[in-house]
Amino acid sequence: MRKAEPGRVHVVGAGLAGLAAAVRLASAGRSVQLHEAAAHAGGRCRSYFDAELGCRIDNGNHLLLAGNRGALDYLERIGALGTIEGPPDAVFPFVDAATEERWAVRPNQGFMPWWILRDRTRVPATKALHYFAAMRLRQADANATVAAMLDRRQTLFRRLWEPLTVAALNTSAERASARMFWRILAETLGRGGDACRPLVPRMGLSETFVEPALARLRLQGAEIRFGSRLKALTFEPDRISELQFDSGSIRLGGDDSVILAVPAAMAARVVPGLVVPDLYSPIVNAHFRCDTPPGAPLFVGVIGGRAEWIFRKRGVLSVTVSAADRLVDLSASELRDLFWRDVALAYRLPSHPVPPARIVKERRATFMASPQQLSRRPEQTTTWSNLLLAGDYVNTGLPATIEGAIRSGFAAARLAINSSNPAFTGGGVNKSMSKANQQHDHALP
Ligand SMILES: Cc1cc2nc3c(=O)[nH]c(=O)nc-3n(C[C@H](O)[C@H](O)[C@H](O)COP(=O)(O)OP(=O)(O)OC[C@H]3O[C@@H](n4cnc5c(N)ncnc54)[C@H](O)[C@@H]3O)c2cc1C
Repeated sequence: MRKAEPGRVHVVGAGLAGLAAAVRLASAGRSVQLHEAAAHAGGRCRSYFDAELGCRIDNGNHLLLAGNRGALDYLERIGALGTIEGPPDAVFPFVDAATEERWAVRPNQGFMPWWILRDRTRVPATKALHYFAAMRLRQADANATVAAMLDRRQTLFRRLWEPLTVAALNTSAERASARMFWRILAETLGRGGDACRPLVPRMGLSETFVEPALARLRLQGAEIRFGSRLKALTFEPDRISELQFDSGSIRLGGDDSVILAVPAAMAARVVPGLVVPDLYSPIVNAHFRCDTPPGAPLFVGVIGGRAEWIFRKRGVLSVTVSAADRLVDLSASELRDLFWRDVALAYRLPSHPVPPARIVKERRATFMASPQQLSRRPEQTTTWSNLLLAGDYVNTGLPATIEGAIRSGFAAARLAINSSNPAFTGGGVNKSMSKANQQHDHALP
């Protein structure tokens, strides 16, 4: 058994939450050891080579908005701001699969939403009044769903609120928390077009979010261990004393600490009594190997089809369907044919032959953002003074997204840096837990 260096922070899990925590700690001069079970970093946000298609693909299409301040801060810290691209203005092109009607939603710059007053910047067949009705979400109680708060018969619901809910919360409007959707609207459309400008990685998710972070960490002397799977933690009444990995254990010194940045289910397995969201929502992606016409949009939203969002990448057109319960059990060839109809329509391509495709089903892509599941999100501090939690499932106030994961990693790092418990240096450790976790607090050893 090796004894870790004093004052070291062990970050377990090298998804975006763990990477963000490690980057922030390392740049603050802390000694960091990053442990990752897999042979690669990035978790649910990464790229890999697909032998069948003969090219690199992303495990899912991830869209950022210019208002995602956590994600942009992270990219700046790892020197990767130059790896993302997007249109100069906030433009969201749509096509209706039934009528083949096309339009673009164009939120204007500044806080006053002038775009909802003009036909050419708002959704066709809608009125400004319909948009103002969404202010009701602001008063939604904790148990209200999006569908219960908005008028589902309106065109605006079908053509904007519903697709935005599903895309941002990976949850159907019938089940999604109205409060959480309001939070998303407030952070995006509520802050004007500047905050809504869409951004995507120029090359791939790993080239933007993962490889530059690993390079920065190595430069700053962090130790990165792949194939290092945490099996268990050893608990003392008020602290963690040991990390048990498949390959052996690490005893923690009195001022060592742990940021657990593994997915919710894994965290609940190693932390006794921890309550976490336990219902998941699937995402289905289809990657078609084909060229796109010059000047084709970076992405298109499809209303009333099977594909929901289609992204143009290098040599690939890529479909994303969130909250995909109704599609996830279809065969790959069925999905390929269903999606291609929408892709061909959106990008004005021939409907035959259907190009080679890779279908990727993520059955447990993110936790479901329903009111009941949100109440199960834990806070980042625990009753153990040197154990912090990070990940998209902790109580960030945001849905399970890149932005949420990165903010949680930054927050955990800040707590580790500022806290005054023996493992840390500085302020105090906040032991607040979410309601669900407070109820289970007594079960903690
Ligand atoms: C298909 C898909 C599409 C998505 N689209 C979007 C989008 O458009 N926009 C957006 O913002 N978000 C999107 N998301 C969500 C986003 O990817 C996640 O919220 C985010 O990546 C979660 O990061 P994380 O670090 O919390 O968790 P993870 O990425 O799950 O990272 C956890 C890490 O811990 C490691 N680990 C697990 N167990 C152990 C162990 N015992 N010991 C050591 N390591 C362990 C895992 O291997 C993993 O690397 C999408 C997700 C998916 C799956």
